[in-house]
Amino acid sequence: MPIARHLHLNLRQARALWRPIQSVAVAFFTALMVWPTAHALEVVFEPVAPDVYAYVGDTEGRTYDNEALNANLGLVITPAGALLIDSGATFQSARKIAQAARRVTQQPIRWVINTGGRDHRWLGNGYFKAQGAEIMAHANGEADMRTRGPQQLRANAPVLRDKQHGTEVVLPTRWLTAPDTRLDLGGVEVQVVHRQGGHSPGDSMVWLPQTGVVFTGDVVYVDRILGMNPVSKTKAWLQSFEALEALNPKVVVPGHGRVTTLAQAQRDTGQLLKALRTHMGQAVEAGTDLNTAVQSFDGTPFQHLKHVDVWLPQLANHTYLEMERE
Ligand SMILES: [Zn+2]
Repeated sequence: MPIARHLHLNLRQARALWRPIQSVAVAFFTALMVWPTAHALEVVFEPVAPDVYAYVGDTEGRTYDNEALNANLGLVITPAGALLIDSGATFQSARKIAQAARRVTQQPIRWVINTGGRDHRWLGNGYFKAQGAEIMAHANGEADMRTRGPQQLRANAPVLRDKQHGTEVVLPTRWLTAPDTRLDLGGVEVQVVHRQGGHSPGDSMVWLPQTGVVFTGDVVYVDRILGMNPVSKTKAWLQSFEALEALNPKVVVPGHGRVTTLAQAQRDTGQLLKALRTHMGQAVEAGTDLNTAVQSFDGTPFQHLKHVDVWLPQLANHTYLEMERE
């Protein structure tokens, strides 16, 4: 039967052909399965002073791999427990943060401070609340957190996919109301400094006078250009920045970028905010239109900052419109 014989040969040929394809395919899918682990987020707390640690996150945008933990965190160890500064953007990354803390201390995380309303400052709260931690933030950020919490979860969903599973909007358990709140945590003095926010309405800094370390949250960005969103206010932001300068910190742990000095914080954040407000204030005063004002802003001193090309025109635009309303 020539047809059957022909078919039989073809099947044999096909099988012989398939074998190498199959092994390539197996190798390819194995690589795909291994790939996420190879690029998985690793949280490591680095020492910045005795019993004070920082995690320095990615300075890129949010990705599946960085789990939206593209920001810095802090950890302060006391004899009565550990204080975590910012809880990350998801329930799952919060668990990784807790595991990283356990690698440097036996103390459980008893307190969390959320330094602002952006996702990576607080959307990991659910994990720490379930562990019994007290979660603090400034009351001026409450409305923003309530409004933007669900929005940020929706915005992150297509990026984080399964890595966002288990994450819910969990508000702080204690609202701070003063511009300066002094806490005694296991004998360590911790001050929460709030000057009406800036990047977000609840922005606060955590100041440790005994070691001279400050965790600025989104008040300071170094290495990469600062970000603004519709709730950002440059006027309040500069007031927050001036409060930082008044502390005269030895070590600045910024919200984004490497652990640094006040001088770099001034160069990369303070000077940019001042330059934007000076230029746009004059433009609004003189009746210069928005486009001319944005295009005539001199961004030369800030060209070293990552993402400057994308962000600077938006910051200029935002500042003009804000100052027009002031
Ligand atoms: Zn941020």
